Amino acid sequence: MLPSGASASGSALRLGIRVTGTVQGVGFRPAVFRLAESLGLAGFVRNDGVSVWIEVEGERAEGFAETLRTRVPAPARIDGLEVVPCPLRGDRGFSIARSAEEPAETPPSIPPDLAPCEACVAEMLDPAARRYLYPFTHCTGCGPRHALVESLPYDRDRTTMRSFALCDDCRAEYENPYDRRFHAEPVACPHCGPTLRLVHRGQELASGEAALWSAAEALADGAIIALKGVGGFALACDAANADAIAKLRTRKRRPHKPLALLCHSVDDLLRIAVPSEAALRAIISPARPIVLVPERGSWIARNVAPGLDEIGVFLPPSPLQFLLTKLGPRVQVMTSGNVSEEPIAIDNDQAFRNLAQIADLFLVHDRAIAARADDSVARIIDGRPVLLRRARGYVPRAIPLPVEGPPVLAVGGETKDAVCLAWGGRAVLSAHIGNVSHPAGYRAFEDAVRHLVALSGTKPVAVAHDLHPDYRSSRWAETQRLPTIAVQHHHAHVASCLAEHGLRGPALGIAFDGTGFGPDGTMWGGEILAADFRGYARLGHLRALRLVGGEKAILEPWRLALAALLDAGEDLGVLGRQGIDRLTSAKVVWTEGSAAPLVTGAGRWFDAVASLLGLRDVATWDGQAACELEALAGDQLAGPYPFRVERRVPFEIDLRAVIRSIVTDCREGIPISLVAARFHETMAHAVLAGARNGRTASGIGLAALTGGCFQNRRLTERAKALLEGDGFTVLVHGEVPCNDGGLALGQAAIASLQLGGAA
Ligand code: ZN
Ligand code: ZN
Ligand code: FE
Repeated sequence: MLPSGASASGSALRLGIRVTGTVQGVGFRPAVFRLAESLGLAGFVRNDGVSVWIEVEGERAEGFAETLRTRVPAPARIDGLEVVPCPLRGDRGFSIARSAEEPAETPPSIPPDLAPCEACVAEMLDPAARRYLYPFTHCTGCGPRHALVESLPYDRDRTTMRSFALCDDCRAEYENPYDRRFHAEPVACPHCGPTLRLVHRGQELASGEAALWSAAEALADGAIIALKGVGGFALACDAANADAIAKLRTRKRRPHKPLALLCHSVDDLLRIAVPSEAALRAIISPARPIVLVPERGSWIARNVAPGLDEIGVFLPPSPLQFLLTKLGPRVQVMTSGNVSEEPIAIDNDQAFRNLAQIADLFLVHDRAIAARADDSVARIIDGRPVLLRRARGYVPRAIPLPVEGPPVLAVGGETKDAVCLAWGGRAVLSAHIGNVSHPAGYRAFEDAVRHLVALSGTKPVAVAHDLHPDYRSSRWAETQRLPTIAVQHHHAHVASCLAEHGLRGPALGIAFDGTGFGPDGTMWGGEILAADFRGYARLGHLRALRLVGGEKAILEPWRLALAALLDAGEDLGVLGRQGIDRLTSAKVVWTEGSAAPLVTGAGRWFDAVASLLGLRDVATWDGQAACELEALAGDQLAGPYPFRVERRVPFEIDLRAVIRSIVTDCREGIPISLVAARFHETMAHAVLAGARNGRTASGIGLAALTGGCFQNRRLTERAKALLEGDGFTVLVHGEVPCNDGGLALGQAAIASLQLGGAA
């Protein structure tokens, strides 16, 4: 320590410092404590609602705030730092004060759940350490946060660790400012913390370390285990055991949908996958998302991702998964612990009930999960990670908004829902919820809203929702006795993309997805909009197809192929495999029209082409046909098919000529992979044509690519390159999903502007 009197002024000073950002639950207060001690300063540090309040007093108080900026512990992030002079109080020494309960003016600064750090991993593997093989080993730099916090401010008695009283050893660590567990709220050990249990049909087979060893052994023997992860249950089996995987698929009623692979280490991962440098960076990040990467051509792909050329891989996000892949199979299938489309189970009884028909064994513990968060899923597009599912590891990180308004809740869409709360120029997006139209999904939706509001310490003054009157989320909004703001689906997609980039527009939004409700009562989904947060104009759209048979056409691409053929004036010969009776009656439905609503959705054109090529007539998961078509196209270069733009208002991108060309190519025996590549190139050119016509009409040169179709890497990369080559500035999604998982953010931005104003 430097001698006192070393400061320039030589006289004592007391300063108050307000720090905002990710500053709670990340070892921030201990860092402040250590710095203050080293400078010989008195005073205190305290969590205040969503910020940290520091008072320092002494002769070296002046430079404290600036030095603090350079001493921030790794998971923390300072967004704002405000210094005000305070009257001297003559404190003796520096302390960590109890949290104050004050109303929050900005969204919470609780960090997301983080993967085990190196120090904790080393401790779990040290036979002499008291946390040897203990799966709840955490510190201030790692471990669960969001999953455990029930309300703010972030203190142990407001987390699900409340029921575990610290033992003497843990308390010593918790109270020692030079220990990495100083004020680490999830701190625990085998004496005082949560206990692991292995359960079979309600009977406990083993507990503690023995449960871990038995589970690892059972996995190696081909068992399916339901395990309680960070933000919910997961189902695990040995990835090298094709029978176990087949059993899991049958029991989960999930014949084709890709399954993720949890790898113990980077070396294990490199044996089965070929990640790019960007992919590897995302894989090893503390958020530990599942990342879709090319597979190495092993036996594994046929079992875990049939029909696709990428597999989802990740490293252990929790100590439990780290230890299980250490003691058991080093690569394990790890998929959501749910039944078909329901949300993942989070409490033990729910898991015992819902997963009884799927899991042979249950690996559970007595630490409750406060907030559900599935694994996040990312893909590398144009060299950057793009989240397809935003959940564990990312929530509840606040997203700065370019607009500021009073607290507003946005409830998103229907099938890939997430909700959002925005106020004070920031927004917090919930974890991916799933399909809200299922009763269990609806309950999860209500839980997510409740938790988000609890974390915020504020009450929304309005609810934003999708324009679709029949979405469960829209109907919920109408029951809240609060003002509601209905936002058109594709307008929200564009606003979401803008908001993520901190922009207010206007932009040319190219919103390509499956379907969304249009204000004219028809289904939209291939839209070129001129939009900002205030409103939008529909400048153009793709030609509409008929959804023959309504909703059921979404999982039966052959119905869209039929619609595309009839629309293009082609005969139905290429669909002969469907049988003449089926085709005839479907043709009647198409001609008659009342059970075949028109939809401009770009995704439906991908479905139609996948079926035309004989690739996929009936899908078992939403998006399967388009994903398989993308995989079939691979990276081969191909020119586009001709199409035309009908110049009326709004203009129409007419793809009928594309269908005729594809039929011709098929008749001539052109390889279907080449046709798939040409079709992708055509859709990228359709984006370009839409943007060019939009620019002519509006003068806007900023293009935002949004909607679920831009999960397609080939489409996104080619469209972006073509647009940039034509002088456009192009925005693509990154941390906020381009699919309906990002919808609520756009709704919140639009509502914030309406209720508040510009930031
Ligand atoms: Zn740690
Ligand atoms: Zn302990
Ligand atoms: Fe959408």
